Amino acid sequence: MRRSARSVAPRLAAAGTNGARRLLSEGPPPRAVAPSLTPPAADPDDPLANPMARLLEQNKQWAAAMRSSPAMLKRMVQHKPKYLWIGCSDARVPANELLGEGAGEVFVHRNVANLVVSTDVNLMSVIQYAVTALKVSDIIVCGHYDCGGVRAAMRPTDHQPPLENWLRNIRDVVWLHRDTVMQIEDLEARYRKLVEVNTMQQSLNVFKTGAVQRARVASRMDPTSKHTLPRVHAVVYDPLEGELKPLSVDYKKLLKEQETVYQLYQLPEHARKQ
Ligand SMILES: [Zn+2]
Repeated sequence: MRRSARSVAPRLAAAGTNGARRLLSEGPPPRAVAPSLTPPAADPDDPLANPMARLLEQNKQWAAAMRSSPAMLKRMVQHKPKYLWIGCSDARVPANELLGEGAGEVFVHRNVANLVVSTDVNLMSVIQYAVTALKVSDIIVCGHYDCGGVRAAMRPTDHQPPLENWLRNIRDVVWLHRDTVMQIEDLEARYRKLVEVNTMQQSLNVFKTGAVQRARVASRMDPTSKHTLPRVHAVVYDPLEGELKPLSVDYKKLLKEQETVYQLYQLPEHARKQ
C-alpha cells in the first residue's frame, strides 16, 4: 500500500528542514511483515484446533458421492424443491435427514423455536419465494420436544434483547392457550404441551400470510389442480426417538373461526357456490 501524503506530512513538519531532507532520502519506512495466511498445522489431539480441515475433508467425500450419483446430480441441475420446511435452529433437528430427502428436495428456514412471525421479513420472504416462485406443494412446520427456546419462554426471566423480544412470541402463545397449558402442573408435561401448541399456532400463522392465501385461492381456481395448494402440516419431533409426530389440527374449523379477522383472499362468489 502507498503511503498517503497525509500520513507523511506530520513527520516532515516535526523533523524540520534538515530532518525533512533526511527523511525523504531514507525513503519509506520498512513495511510490516504480513501475517502468513497458511493455517497452523492441526493438533490431532485437539479437535478445536482446526475443525475446518476435517469439515472440508468430509465435504470432499460428499461432493465425490454427489457427482457419482446420477439421481443426486439431476436434483442439483435445477432448484425445484417440493417442500418448505420451517423448523427450529436446534442442531438435533436437521430437515433433510429427518424426512429422508436428499439435497435439492427441501427449501429450509430455521429459527429459534420455529416461529412464524408476520414482522419477520426473513421468513416472510422465504414463504413468498417458496410459494410464488418455487411453487412448493407442502409447508411443514416442525417443533421439537426439549426445545431450548420454548423452555426459556416458560421462565419469568429477561433473556435480554433481541432474544427476549423473539421469545415474547412464545409467551403470547402461552397466554393465548393458557387454559390448555397452564393447568398442567407437571412442568415437563407442560413444556411438551407448549411445544405442541406452539407448533400448531405457528402452522396457523402460515395460513394467515397473503402469499399462502393467494396461492391456495389460485389453485382452487385452477381446473388442472387436483388439490388446494400449498398444504400446511404441523409436526413435532422427539430428538430421543427420531420420529416425526403429525399433530391433529382441524384447520378447516380453525380457519373458519378466524376468517373474519385473517382472511385476505377468498374464492369469487361463483366459485364458492360450486
Ligand atoms: Zn428448539
